[in-house]
Amino acid sequence: MKSPLLSINIMSCYKNKLKDLLPLPSRMAKCTPDTHDAIFNIAAELATKGGKLILSDLFRSYDMQLQAHNDYVSGKKKAFSPAPVGSLHEAGRAFDLDLSVIKISLADFWILAAKYGVNPIISEPKTSISEAWHFDCRGSHQIVYKYYADKKGTNFVPYKAAAVSGVLAIGLHVDDFGSNQTQAAIQSCVIRLGKEIGNLDGQIGRKTQKGLEELGITFNLNNAPDMLLQVENMIQEKFPNEFTLSAP
Ligand SMILES: [Zn+2]
Repeated sequence: MKSPLLSINIMSCYKNKLKDLLPLPSRMAKCTPDTHDAIFNIAAELATKGGKLILSDLFRSYDMQLQAHNDYVSGKKKAFSPAPVGSLHEAGRAFDLDLSVIKISLADFWILAAKYGVNPIISEPKTSISEAWHFDCRGSHQIVYKYYADKKGTNFVPYKAAAVSGVLAIGLHVDDFGSNQTQAAIQSCVIRLGKEIGNLDGQIGRKTQKGLEELGITFNLNNAPDMLLQVENMIQEKFPNEFTLSAP
């Protein structure tokens, strides 16, 4: 099965007319189970230190990301927004938070978040740096990130490779793969299961075939959906917290 996108009830920095903080709007309040666990664990630990986890962004759909990108291109929006798929927001695996209410230093927040598999995308804990507020819960897609960082794949930068892998895992469309979405999703799983197949590009060749056969899957390109189901089941067995919640 696909990794599900779950609804999450979390406070946001958005306010009503009476200036009360509102929960994150439902169109954004979605994430994978492991991200859900991480957000709740971070919020709980932060609360023991007097801080609050208040989000300004979490899930972005293809349409939301495209709109933000178009607004950036037209000049309507100042903050840079990449075209879809540009980030782990679209995989339900990234959130932006209000740094003014965490009540601990950003450096300490990095240490706290890392305990729950959540990491920043900037290299120094300085609140003045753009995207200091952005954190990723990469889960098994960190394997894809590292695969590209190690130059085993070359058609994407590592962050984009992890993002497209995360989007495929929740069953959403990635433009880069055209009509080969199933093939690309198979490749994402095979890489996360530790095999080397060259590029994640939606083109199943001999290397992907070899990887599948090493995993014990009978290769049959005429039945790609069945091969996908088999590798997805292996992923679910290896990374169960990406499929079901651990925290109640
Ligand atoms: Zn962000």
